[in-house]
Amino acid sequence: MDQIIVEDLRVYAYHGVYRQENEEGQNFYVSVILDTDTRAAGLSDDLELSTNYGEVCRFLYTFLREHTYRLIETAAERCAEALLLQFPLVRQVTLELKKPEAPIRIPFGSVSVRIMRGWRRAYIACGSNMGDRMAHLDAAVHALRQDQKCRVLRVSDWMETTPYGGVEQDNFLNGALSVETLYAPEELLEALQEIEKREYRERRVHWGPRTLDLDILLYEGRVMDTERLMIPHRDMQNRDFVLKPLAQIAPYEIHPVLGKAVVVLLEEVETGKEKHVLLN
Ligand code: ATP
Ligand code: MG
Ligand code: MG
Repeated sequence: MDQIIVEDLRVYAYHGVYRQENEEGQNFYVSVILDTDTRAAGLSDDLELSTNYGEVCRFLYTFLREHTYRLIETAAERCAEALLLQFPLVRQVTLELKKPEAPIRIPFGSVSVRIMRGWRRAYIACGSNMGDRMAHLDAAVHALRQDQKCRVLRVSDWMETTPYGGVEQDNFLNGALSVETLYAPEELLEALQEIEKREYRERRVHWGPRTLDLDILLYEGRVMDTERLMIPHRDMQNRDFVLKPLAQIAPYEIHPVLGKAVVVLLEEVETGKEKHVLLN
């Protein structure tokens, strides 16, 4: 992707662990690489179609002056996030914050932290089989739209489906949606669980009835397996009620472990015995 680069913008600011640093201040130097598509601006010569680097510099300067953090890690983290929220055309930022006058009693060139943050594409499955099912699913989409760290991109149809996993219970309404998010995978899971809770979800029977279930299916081609979180979702390839709505919004997205597109996985599961999506 194209990049806009600012190097070593000097900001006199007050970040530091020591009181003296907070009171007297020192010079910081911030560099950013903004990943952004400059093609439209490049062809049209129109600044409106690009990210104004003068504004970026002023934004960085003001941000680092107006906030005071103990750690340059925190200053960098918050600054990168604020930048991504402020400049909508920037997909990813690499930000380095240097502190060449840091109080270290040994001669040194500079210390710095460099981080890379950006909008990541995630796919989420949603399901409900209790109460006003459609209202629960709509509430989930609404909650994600309200969250500034998420941009909802596409939402599938809600589909009537029969239960999966052997527990006798009512039919589900299932769907899928895509977001771009600033949350790391674990943070996204936490945000989704908060939304589930708000919709009165109680976790009683595994695979049992619920007002709202929100699962992360895919996250930016990532593969991970921790105690709390498995990505891709461990069972998505076996569920037509997940793949069918997902194929509506992301047919050619590749499952990073199985190496197959969503439409291919759907085709495979649809040739099997177990079908849950009811065609209306
Ligand atoms: P299934 O995951 O088979 O669809 P479920 O959605 O009914 O089952 P939950 O009770 O919603 O299961 O979640 C149980 C736990 O699964 C969660 O607490 C969470 O830590 C874990 N989990 C692991 N991977 C994921 C994922 N990709 N998305 C959501 N939760 C996950
Ligand atoms: Mg689930
Ligand atoms: Mg779940």
